[in-house]
Amino acid sequence: MKKTLELTLSPEIAYDDNELHQYIQSHLQIKEANTFQVRLQKRSIDARSRQIKVNLQVDVYLDELPEPLMQYQAKYKDVSKSKQAIIVGAGPAGLFAALRLIELGIKPVILERGKDVQERRRDLANINKKNIVNENSNYCFGEGGAGTYSDGKLYTRSKKRGDIRRILEILVAHGAAENILYEAHPHIGTNKLPKLIQEIRNTILQYGGEIHFNTKVIDFILEGNEMKGVIAEELVSPHLPLEGGQRGVFSGIGVILATGHSARDIFELLHHKNILIEAKPFALGVRIEHQQSLIDSIQYKCADRGIYLPAASYSLVEQVKVGTQQKGVFSFCMCPGGFILPSATNQNEIVVNGMSPSKRDSSFSNSGMVVAVDETDWKNFKQFGPLAAMEFQKSVEQKAWQLAGETQIAPAQKMQDFVHKKVSSSLLDTSYQPGLVAVEMRDFLPKEIAFCLQEGFKSFGNKMRGYLTNDAQIIGVESRTSSPVKIPRDKETFEHVYTKRLFPCAEGAGYAGGIMSAAMDGERCAERLMELYAL
Ligand SMILES: Cc1cc2nc3c(=O)[nH]c(=O)nc-3n(C[C@H](O)[C@H](O)[C@H](O)COP(=O)(O)OP(=O)(O)OC[C@H]3O[C@@H](n4cnc5c(N)ncnc54)[C@H](O)[C@@H]3O)c2cc1C
Repeated sequence: MKKTLELTLSPEIAYDDNELHQYIQSHLQIKEANTFQVRLQKRSIDARSRQIKVNLQVDVYLDELPEPLMQYQAKYKDVSKSKQAIIVGAGPAGLFAALRLIELGIKPVILERGKDVQERRRDLANINKKNIVNENSNYCFGEGGAGTYSDGKLYTRSKKRGDIRRILEILVAHGAAENILYEAHPHIGTNKLPKLIQEIRNTILQYGGEIHFNTKVIDFILEGNEMKGVIAEELVSPHLPLEGGQRGVFSGIGVILATGHSARDIFELLHHKNILIEAKPFALGVRIEHQQSLIDSIQYKCADRGIYLPAASYSLVEQVKVGTQQKGVFSFCMCPGGFILPSATNQNEIVVNGMSPSKRDSSFSNSGMVVAVDETDWKNFKQFGPLAAMEFQKSVEQKAWQLAGETQIAPAQKMQDFVHKKVSSSLLDTSYQPGLVAVEMRDFLPKEIAFCLQEGFKSFGNKMRGYLTNDAQIIGVESRTSSPVKIPRDKETFEHVYTKRLFPCAEGAGYAGGIMSAAMDGERCAERLMELYAL
């Protein structure tokens, strides 16, 4: 017999399997501890009152075995001799598109400009320690895409529960911890992601798919309004089909373009080839870093969160009036117990982002603090047409780089100093490895954005007492929040509105934001491609 219980418990019971088992035994007055099994379905923290509670939904199986944990059984087929489709980009979208194509009986050929997860580490070390940004292998580019060295937060605004569950189960099948299936805010952690990505690669290769690293798509093969394939350039590695500097043609029944929000050369190529693209609103601002203990004390209302509660997070939003316009200021991609990263994709720019390890146990908390930007912000870049938003984004990143001394050392200012328009006389310890330099952030941030951040911080200080403090600092630039370009596609077929066999996919095309939605969009593109061209 199965009983489903909704419980509100202390963290000490809710986060300890033995305690929870004992609690349920006594709650249901079960005589023998070994006659029932517990399966968690949902777990979320309620920190609104001083007494922190954890809400649980559990299934209790009395004298019977629990249902299988995994509801979705992937049916991968050997596709080594099947028709092939091209996937550009091995981020979450590209990898999940490949897995889905394999299930549907089509051979995926993935072309990825970056290196595999292992080799990629050296380039990340070079950014952090030597200020060298490899424009093809960095925190955004390489196996697993921008999601590999991230927090691995798996939240999504999508309401498609079945699809979400399937993605999570596929991640568990490739090594993610089972708790991502029931935590309200699941995350994997940067220390676990590379291995998981490697396991997904193994599945793709095992069933006959191909993955070419160090292989950058530099041109499209078009016949009339049909995309027949792509031209790629081998970047370095001699053990791949093309030798360094060699070019190759990759063709297939369709091209899934999953190149992410930072592939500026791909946006330029699309525009150059007269393939319709549009400038797209995104968000821009800074990353803010506090001590994690301060955020814990504000959110949990206690001096020490103890051993059970996870590092606390927050989500803040405010509308600020600028002239006749209302602009949204909001926290973005929070990384409790995490690190701030240099995530530029070119040598002459500064871009920051954040990641956390699975235990979220660094002493720092960081979050993006960004302002929504639209065509009024990039009005001075109109001459770039559909690339105007991208050029505006680039200009802010480059200005920050110049101001901070033309390395990966990032511009920073203490939070209250920023509000009071004062350059900080000293800066705080930071998790950002290349280092920080004190500047007036208004010297590179567009005026309206700086104003919105300033007003937003004041409001957030009222919402969370202690948040607005000179014990926190802001670091720039948080600019790769979503794509500055949209590649329009048909709502039903997911094919580009004018170019046949081209499937603009996920974040870079403007149809996803985050790992989960990118993975789901990858699956959908694979299905539509199959329906249109393989049946
Ligand atoms: C540091 C960091 C932390 C993040 N943390 C989180 C988080 O915790 N949770 C979350 O949901 N999201 C997070 N994100 C965002 C998330 O990673 C992205 O939303 C997601 O990866 C988008 O997936 P995608 O497949 O659309 O594109 P991407 O992941 O950007 O992948 C695109 C791939 O295409 C490749 N590519 C680009 N151009 C070419 C070309 N010309 N030829 C061949 N290959 C090419 C790139 O190298 C890249 O690997 C984070 C991002 C960063 C940078």
